[in-house]
Amino acid sequence: MKSFMKLSSMVILLLIVAGMLVNQSCSSAIYNSGDTKMEKIKNSAQYKDGVFYNYKDNYDINFIKSLPMMWDFLFTDNDRKPDVELPAKKVDFNQIENAQSDELKVTWVGHSSQIINIDGKIILTDPVFENKLAFMGNSRYNGDVPFNMEDLPEIDLVIVSHNHYDHLNSTTIETIHPKVKHFITPLMVGAELENMGVPRKKITELDWWEEIILFDEFLIALTPAQHFSNRGMFDGRETLWGSYVIQGPYHKIYFSGDSGYSESFKHIGDKYGPFDYTFLECGAYDERWHSMHMYPEETAQAHLDLKGEILQPMHWGTFDLALHSWYDPMVRVSKAADSLGIKLSTPIVGETITIDNNLTTERWWEPAINKEKLISKK
Ligand SMILES: [Zn+2]
Repeated sequence: MKSFMKLSSMVILLLIVAGMLVNQSCSSAIYNSGDTKMEKIKNSAQYKDGVFYNYKDNYDINFIKSLPMMWDFLFTDNDRKPDVELPAKKVDFNQIENAQSDELKVTWVGHSSQIINIDGKIILTDPVFENKLAFMGNSRYNGDVPFNMEDLPEIDLVIVSHNHYDHLNSTTIETIHPKVKHFITPLMVGAELENMGVPRKKITELDWWEEIILFDEFLIALTPAQHFSNRGMFDGRETLWGSYVIQGPYHKIYFSGDSGYSESFKHIGDKYGPFDYTFLECGAYDERWHSMHMYPEETAQAHLDLKGEILQPMHWGTFDLALHSWYDPMVRVSKAADSLGIKLSTPIVGETITIDNNLTTERWWEPAINKEKLISKK
């Protein structure tokens, strides 16, 4: 049985490789060189000769480098998926539509997708409202997306951190964009949105450290992240990536997108901190791509660098994207948060929580950890 599994996995690997080689559509959408949008891009300090750069650690994925990783993804188990479906609730849109104009509420849809009520506005981050990711074929750990997209209310703003498939999903954008008033993306990512049918006039592209004022009294800034972008094997770093500061009249929050740990967190904290709430990536790390995805202990440190008050770890517990166990991010970040005195926010998928003094931290993932496997590994 095991050799059959290995054989079928090898066939899948070969099919994935063949598919990537022949499918020219697996690439980032970019503007033509004569497009008016290119003027700002060419002037960006992060852009040179057709690609974008981090301040340091310019990770370059290529086809040959990725082959051993693909092998590990197929043949390494390591408790990557939970044995039981993780808890989730159906989203109650009454709570979201009836939020007060001075409230901060958060509804985690899974991974990096959040529905945020902030000071009377509804903001979506990296919306991926599908049960499976393109090409990866893995299902969510917590059942189906906890609502139907038709039931979404009017959305004031969607922010997109970068063009990776687990952050920018074509079916989601194609379906929801008529209900969305405005989109903000890093430079060049707007081309992808336009391909998905979003009218250009609804998209604002920002460079790192660029700010805009929306709805008269909201400041949105795109801030650096140490990451990369691609939608295929041959299109690395053609579009920018980033993190966001969102400041309303009563609350200030930070959304990391994907990022390795860097001194940028301190710089962002110095310029925009303190933050009432930070959404920080915590999951999908590996020593081979450590500069692009931080370890959980670094997530806790980044929160302190940002001068954050409450930390919500995200980018975990939803999709199978790395080789660590599904619970490793939360076990480690909880330990780090305890030792550093950081308050964690840990909603289950679909639950709407209000960020106030009554917020409690539930370690709901602990009962779902398969203790037998945990002990046998020691
Ligand atoms: Zn990414």
